Amino acid sequence: MRKNIVAGNWKMNTTLAEGVGLAKDVNEALKNATPKCDVVICVPFTHLASVAAAIDTDKLGLGAENCADHVKGAYTGEVSAPMVASTGAKYVILGHSERRQYYGETSEILKEKVNLALAENLTPIFCIGEVLEQREDGTYNEVVTKQIEEALFDLTAEDFSKLVLAYEPVWAIGTGKTATAEQAEDMHAHIRSVIAGKYGKEVADNTSILYGGSCKPSNAAELFAKPDVDGGLIGGAALDAASFMGIVNAFKEIFSLKR
Ligand code: PEP
Repeated sequence: MRKNIVAGNWKMNTTLAEGVGLAKDVNEALKNATPKCDVVICVPFTHLASVAAAIDTDKLGLGAENCADHVKGAYTGEVSAPMVASTGAKYVILGHSERRQYYGETSEILKEKVNLALAENLTPIFCIGEVLEQREDGTYNEVVTKQIEEALFDLTAEDFSKLVLAYEPVWAIGTGKTATAEQAEDMHAHIRSVIAGKYGKEVADNTSILYGGSCKPSNAAELFAKPDVDGGLIGGAALDAASFMGIVNAFKEIFSLKR
């Protein structure tokens, strides 16, 4: 059975002290809550070990925002999947559009990263999504299909089942412009059919597919209520514990409708 997940992506924000403080606030809020979803925060590399020590990682999952495409060696400035895992992190965001766009990450590179993350028992949160031009020219389904096929379809069904996918239309990230719940549902259903075509219906039905792109407390419930939307990858709104918890709590409103 697939899981509902709300995951924060802090990006390049917060000093160490600020980050530990934010993680503690989310951890504290979760202590008295009974969330109807798994809750994860993905934080800068520099914060991982300190945040791991400051939170209850059974209640609040911890992840990195990236990892290297090599396991070790002379790659100055890089951080490997084993290093990430050694901090206590259990997740890693891979293929975020900002990595693809600003750091030239290709499907070939991402394939390596996925394999290395899986070898460390990290759960990749693998991001896919089209840019505005592709949304407008109507090629968005093909674009996302290609991203999935190129980077992920060499995996065995067993390994594919360990992934979480995040559909993040690039035009909605950090822009305040959210995909409508219908646009998100259409794409998530499409992604699920692409997975079913390769790995079968059971694997497709069990894959958690998150939506990301200007998700906030005011629109989370409408998005998460859609049958193929299993939660969110949250950027800006994850930098404030109250708004992040507002999104987590959106699942309470809709839980009885969905499962
Ligand atoms: C993201 O970058 O993963 C994201 C969804 O950002 P935002 O919520 O700020 O649009």
